[in-house]
Amino acid sequence: MNIEAKLGLDVFKIDKERHITIDVEVCNRVCTDKACLYVCPAHLYEIDDQGNNTVNFEGCLECGTCLISCDHRALEWHYPRGEYGVQYRMG
Ligand code: SF4
Ligand code: SF4
Repeated sequence: MNIEAKLGLDVFKIDKERHITIDVEVCNRVCTDKACLYVCPAHLYEIDDQGNNTVNFEGCLECGTCLISCDHRALEWHYPRGEYGVQYRMG
């Protein structure tokens, strides 16, 4: 089973409260490498039509890689509340 198939087994209970927020001004002002666009295993970060960084937090795997990779402290990140977030299935 490849990684895409394994990820397809995961179930998400989506919280209406965001658990990841981006300081877009910092992204636009100081960040040249945009590491978050490349390190997220679920490819949740993207640049929108206005040129601003966005994250589709609903599909977050809660690995924390984006937080570690951001050298500019532009992210606020915490785990989703209570029973919300990803629920891993072993297949
Ligand atoms: S790495 Fe950090 S500062 Fe750069 S675009 Fe991503 S969140 Fe913004
Ligand atoms: S915590 Fe992991 S899966 Fe979630 S947005 Fe960051 S890099 Fe992507």
